[in-house]
Amino acid sequence: MITGIKGFNDILPGEVERWQHIEATARRVFGLYGFAEIRIPILEKTDLFRRSIGDTTDIVEKEMYSFVDKGENAVTMRPEGTASVMRAYIEHKLYAQDPVAKLYYMGPMFRYERPQKGRYRQFHQIGAEVTGVTDPKVDAQVLTMLCHFFAELGLSEPTLQINSLGCPECRPVYRETLKTFLRERLDQLCDDCKRRYETNPLRALDCKSAHCKEATAGAPAMLDHLCAGCDDHFAATRRHLERAGTIYAINNRMVRGLDYYTRTTFELVTGLLGAQSAVAAGGRYDGLIADLGGPAISGIGFAMGVERVALLLGGQEFARRPDLFIAALGGESQDEAFRLMCGLQRLGVSVEMDYEGKSLKSQMRRSDKFNARFTLIIGGDELVNGKAVLKAMDTGTQGDVVLDPAVIAEQIR
Ligand code: ATP
Ligand code: MG
Repeated sequence: MITGIKGFNDILPGEVERWQHIEATARRVFGLYGFAEIRIPILEKTDLFRRSIGDTTDIVEKEMYSFVDKGENAVTMRPEGTASVMRAYIEHKLYAQDPVAKLYYMGPMFRYERPQKGRYRQFHQIGAEVTGVTDPKVDAQVLTMLCHFFAELGLSEPTLQINSLGCPECRPVYRETLKTFLRERLDQLCDDCKRRYETNPLRALDCKSAHCKEATAGAPAMLDHLCAGCDDHFAATRRHLERAGTIYAINNRMVRGLDYYTRTTFELVTGLLGAQSAVAAGGRYDGLIADLGGPAISGIGFAMGVERVALLLGGQEFARRPDLFIAALGGESQDEAFRLMCGLQRLGVSVEMDYEGKSLKSQMRRSDKFNARFTLIIGGDELVNGKAVLKAMDTGTQGDVVLDPAVIAEQIR
């Protein structure tokens, strides 16, 4: 038997309905906020991710599915969506008519990580991006939309945490301040953080190691070192969130694992999924479009992990329930049942029958499995009379119905 690859999952019927519900809810809610879908390829030039996500990040350092294709091109299976969306935005000059674009995407992403609950090698993200607006109203709008999406799913978790990572003016200054603080505690940090001390010292702030947590407990916070512009932007974002009625908490230790973030950054976190606490995350990336060779246009966006959203939705039942099950006794009745079924399906009624149904008992077992809203039983007498009993399964009420798809469809609606 050939099995699937570790960390690459099948999404089977029974589970897939939950996914469809999540995706449909995202399309509906994002549509309310004026977002259009963009579909981006799975394979990109490796340079795209190196340049955008950053060489010293976990993703680029150790998680990418990169290979050289038959044409000697260095390519990578996308580990995230923002870089590709911005590459497309620049390549197709979507900014020429209007720099403001509101785009969303959904699909598989690939990272070579240790598979565990809520963490896979092929996983799925739904993400959204807004370009061309630096005004903090857009920060609040994106966050409000994301919270609206989770509320629409009926989830009270995850909750929103926000931070600001400053800009190229204030972050380098803060970075030095933090390095000075960490220098005296270097021996207490984990090996990863020691190694990242020069290249990416901020990562020590959100390191999961208990030693790092302790060593950085009193570390200076970016929020206290923002320049005037970033400070105003963060304060205004908070005011707009309050205006929108969007509940948030400040987490001044949040450091996103991608280099391109500036100013507002955020995570939607939950206590219900163990170590995999981030359900969605994102932030502003005001320098990214220019870094990728486009014009100086700002951006902000997020991505959520669909597997984690599906885990939060838990055992809720989303399975489709057919409208009608037709049971039939004898060859002629089964042919008639088949004719009715095809006619009804064409009229938009979902119908099941037991294609190879033998005894009535085994057909009724299938009927129970389908849990259809109505059942219709056809035997010899019904064939002769051209009528059968249609039963509503939830109420138990029943009545005669003519064996005609249009008439049956009418009764079921
Ligand atoms: P984590 O801290 O859990 O590794 P991350 O910071 O790497 O998350 P992002 O790159 O911001 O995550 O991606 C956004 C979302 O995508 C995450 O919040 C999470 O829900 C989901 N996600 C990321 N990596 C995985 C994975 N390997 N398997 C499943 N979901 C993932
Ligand atoms: Mg990660």
